[in-house]
Amino acid sequence: MLAVVLGPDREPSLADIVAPQPPGDLVRVLACGLCGSDVEKIGLAAPGTVLGHEVVASTADGHRVALIHHAGCGTCSRCVSGHESTCERFAEPTIVPGGFAEQVRAHGWVELPTEVGDALGTYVEPLACVLRGAERVPRGRVLVVGNGFIGRLFGAVLERRGDTVFAIDRLPQRAGVPPDGPVDAAVLCAPGGGEVALSAVEPGGTVLLFADASTLPADGMYRRELTVIGSRSASPAHMKEAVALLPTLALPEPTVLPLERFGEALELHRSGAALKVVLVP
Ligand SMILES: [Zn+2]
Ligand SMILES: [Zn+2]
Repeated sequence: MLAVVLGPDREPSLADIVAPQPPGDLVRVLACGLCGSDVEKIGLAAPGTVLGHEVVASTADGHRVALIHHAGCGTCSRCVSGHESTCERFAEPTIVPGGFAEQVRAHGWVELPTEVGDALGTYVEPLACVLRGAERVPRGRVLVVGNGFIGRLFGAVLERRGDTVFAIDRLPQRAGVPPDGPVDAAVLCAPGGGEVALSAVEPGGTVLLFADASTLPADGMYRRELTVIGSRSASPAHMKEAVALLPTLALPEPTVLPLERFGEALELHRSGAALKVVLVP
């Protein structure tokens, strides 16, 4: 089957590889979204890696589904306390070899309604991650730092629940409404904006780290009594919630390209020319 595979130089290219074999649930990939976390692995992940985890597929019995990407065991103390993404089982591969391929072995899915098309269905996984993170953001005036695709998902989810949302971005054409004063909470959606997020919130405010903030100055957190929270990835319950919510949100349209044009997709992502690129085998 065709797949985008990292070569010996850890750079992606289209290759003919062996399709996953039984046993297991083999599904045919219909679409797979390109995520910033995929792009970060290029040049680093092992040769032979197939990236892609925002997958819409068709099951052997003809159902259109969004695949679950990682899941906790559901019973350990971390899972029970709501930190499923830190469960020891969470790192186990669940979409094999990876979504940028014609076929994968899946370990769970949620069914898609007909009104959600294949390309839009790839938003279920990132939306589920955002829904899980948004649960930990206090309501009120919220600043989104980094208004790319994930920032837009946060904006849509927070506005829908009644928050006043502001958004800034290092690319001026992506910025939303800038904050008109201190905010109750900030959500960091892009690496590198940590200090901006910290200084935007009121004393006693909250900063949700949804991207690697590297090092942050802790004296301000102490003196201003800030709450800094991390959230990463989704849970199967949030995938279900995302399917239900997706048709009700106004979200940016994806740029859809065939798998053969992965290099172009990467360029559109890296330059910021496209908010979201979806690849179709
Ligand atoms: Zn992702
Ligand atoms: Zn667990």
